[in-house]
Amino acid sequence: MESRTSTSSGTQAAIPVTVIPGDGVGPEIVRSAMRIIDAAGVKIAWEEAEAGAEVFRRGDSSGVPQATRDSIERTRVVLKGPLETPVGFGEKSANVTLRKLFETYANVRPARELPGVPTRYSGEGLDMIIVRENIEDLYAGIEHMQTPDVGQGLKVITRKGSEKIIRYAFELARREGRSKVTCATKANIMKLTEGLFKRVFEEMAPEYPEITAEHLIIDNVAHQLAKNPAQFDIIVTTNLNGDIISDLASGLVGGLGFASSGNYGDDIAIFEAVHGSAPKYAGKDVINPTALILSSVMMLRYLGQDEAAASVEDAVLYTLEEGRAVTQDLARQTGGDVEHATSTTGFTDQVIANLGRHPSSVPVRARTVDRGLAPRPGWSYAPERYAAMKRELVGVDVMIETDLPVEQLGDDLAGLAGEKLELSMVESRGTKVYPSIGLATDHVRWYRGRFVARAGAVVTEDDLVALLGRIAARHRWTEFVRLQSFDGELAFTKAQGE
Ligand code: NAD
Repeated sequence: MESRTSTSSGTQAAIPVTVIPGDGVGPEIVRSAMRIIDAAGVKIAWEEAEAGAEVFRRGDSSGVPQATRDSIERTRVVLKGPLETPVGFGEKSANVTLRKLFETYANVRPARELPGVPTRYSGEGLDMIIVRENIEDLYAGIEHMQTPDVGQGLKVITRKGSEKIIRYAFELARREGRSKVTCATKANIMKLTEGLFKRVFEEMAPEYPEITAEHLIIDNVAHQLAKNPAQFDIIVTTNLNGDIISDLASGLVGGLGFASSGNYGDDIAIFEAVHGSAPKYAGKDVINPTALILSSVMMLRYLGQDEAAASVEDAVLYTLEEGRAVTQDLARQTGGDVEHATSTTGFTDQVIANLGRHPSSVPVRARTVDRGLAPRPGWSYAPERYAAMKRELVGVDVMIETDLPVEQLGDDLAGLAGEKLELSMVESRGTKVYPSIGLATDHVRWYRGRFVARAGAVVTEDDLVALLGRIAARHRWTEFVRLQSFDGELAFTKAQGE
């Protein structure tokens, strides 16, 4: 489908925005937000573009056609409905593809108490923002079947990616006058990935002395979110942690029908509801459009349309407070009349009717001042620091698929190690099993042999290649990973029991 352009009337130059109606309930909620923005008097030149299920079905395995990419290149701002990845088509989610193609590295999800939306936390003043890293981590999507029975995914955390999102979170706290940023990681277990994120957070925190910086382990954050969520202000975290706790946070303030989000890059942004395409409600005019309307409020602020943003936000809050228009999901939560709940269109009409009205009982700050204007911080890469760094090759890990008993495998690998290297251990799923430490480790026909430099030996690339040749002649190897040290510090983890 060609990109279509429709322009709201008026003399002021219209702002170009790419709009992707999306799948399932997407077109209904997107239409609702567009009507409200129009009624609020903002002139937008909407470029309608497609992505998602239909695109996959037509054979485009990315789910995001070139015409859509071109439109986003032009407009740099997107309002989108949810996208489905139909089973059996394509490999990647079109949502993730969009976020990655345009490097929208900051996923910002506010979760605040809303008037007229009672929850078990009502009155506690919940008002937090989850800032989720949006590109890296297990979402890099780099996975391999190491054997027909062993899947492995690469968790990629970089200093640059961490610096960008952590800077974003602190700058957001500063812009909003917030007092605390909590970094949530699993650094106690994943010391080189989640641990890097934590270290970068601790390095950057002193640049923001007016903001309290704390680190909590992600499982404790989950616990605290259920127990005492009002303690949180901004939470910054890695991609997978953020995915889970931001949905959790949505649940605290009324559910997916109310959860808005923005994906921000350096000069591009994609606004969408947190929820998916809710296919069972598609075309029924019953879905709650609040999440996408509030996402479009974030978009209006990003576009510098502060007055209109405040007006739409107030109209939504007034409508919720007034309680005359109650969508099915809210009626269900509050024990209301689900049969006679307000339709998507009816709720939209009511918000439009309420433009210009202000809620009286907003329990927390009414609006975010987040413009999503990512500072362009660059990062701390200093070539001279790396040039001076002493890097040593200290060994190699070789993954092997085998039916041999581990003692036999270990003895054989030890014999193949050569003059400069020695076999230090064999492990199974992270636990040392050779030489045996006598524990009840289960085996899965897939092992890692760790070879390290013998005392005094200087290992070269040629030594590693020769070792791989000897192993390949006798075993089915699946992966070969250098073991290094940087300035004398080992750049790899040890196995349990090693
Ligand atoms: P979903 O969010 O679509 O729906 C789960 C349930 O939440 C719905 O059945 C409904 O009961 C409720 N719900 C969601 N939004 C609501 C709203 N606005 N008003 C009222 N109730 C609402 O999750 P799912 O069923 O797991 O996913 C369906 C499809 O959406 C999948 O293909 C998935 O991949 C996709 N998805 C897309 C996005 C995105 O585009 N960003 C996000 C999540 C899921």
